[in-house]
Amino acid sequence: MEIKVKAYAKINLMLDIVATRTDGYHDLFMIMQSIGIYDTVTVTQTDSKKITITCNADGIPLDEKNIAHKAAAAFFEATGIKNKGVHIDIVKRIPHAAGMAGGSADGAGVLVALNELTDTGLTEDELCDIGVKIGADVPFCIKGGTLLAQGIGDVLNKVKPLRKCFILIAKPDVGVNTAFAYKQFDECGKVHTPDKFGMLCAMQSRDLADIASRMENVFEQFIDVPNRVDMKAVMRENGALGVCMSGSGPTIFGIFDDKQKAEHAAEQLTVYAKDIAVTMPVSKGCKIVK
Ligand code: ATP
Repeated sequence: MEIKVKAYAKINLMLDIVATRTDGYHDLFMIMQSIGIYDTVTVTQTDSKKITITCNADGIPLDEKNIAHKAAAAFFEATGIKNKGVHIDIVKRIPHAAGMAGGSADGAGVLVALNELTDTGLTEDELCDIGVKIGADVPFCIKGGTLLAQGIGDVLNKVKPLRKCFILIAKPDVGVNTAFAYKQFDECGKVHTPDKFGMLCAMQSRDLADIASRMENVFEQFIDVPNRVDMKAVMRENGALGVCMSGSGPTIFGIFDDKQKAEHAAEQLTVYAKDIAVTMPVSKGCKIVK
């Protein structure tokens, strides 16, 4: 028996680092949005007594370092279910090390799939409790949609869903190490603090132009992304309502109210980025494919 899950990527409409905690983690304020780019995670029962992984993309670990592997191990440990053997196949579409939670999405997909496969019946919140031990973005990737994430990213609250729009994502051909990005913050600090209250009001009013104009990510103050300014300029010149970086980068995205404008900008971005896509918001983090 197998369960197939679409595990969706995310972008950050706002990302502020509020404080460095004594345990080394950071308290965050993030408005997170699931988007229509997804990995397909298929979990199959085997009799190997092991967790095995295959993936179509290069550069993704296939052993216990893979977040999907960690998720499966954490699921069996938390539920006390004996692992008779599972195989996880990942078809990657979410760009890797992009600030789009690609690994966390796969981890979330595995938890959702195993819950179904073993007929365990854990609630979303219970799955999130397991997920947060693997990675701070995993709870968001389980729930998905449009959420305010605080704490280390695991304290999730609903905000009103984004109105229909088109999201152009462009990832330059570099990866950003998330741990390095936080170290930069600890060393450099930030010079400007995003207007969190203004953003929450804009989210509440669902005014797309207002939301897009308020997007801000503090990582942009100390993480260098090649051609970031040029990519943003192309998006703006083509009618983006707002442009921002996602996560710790390097993905840059623009919000458009017109698909053609987004596609036109996408064509012009090929000189700067390899991974380019026009997508839309989605209301879920994971979706079981029947
Ligand atoms: P975030 O937005 O949560 O910071 P990211 O999009 O920047 O994540 P990922 O794509 O999750 O970054 O990859 C970060 C690291 O995790 C890479 O070094 C990669 O080797 C490792 N990794 C482990 N498992 C996976 C997986 N299933 N998919 C992608 N990367 C994985």
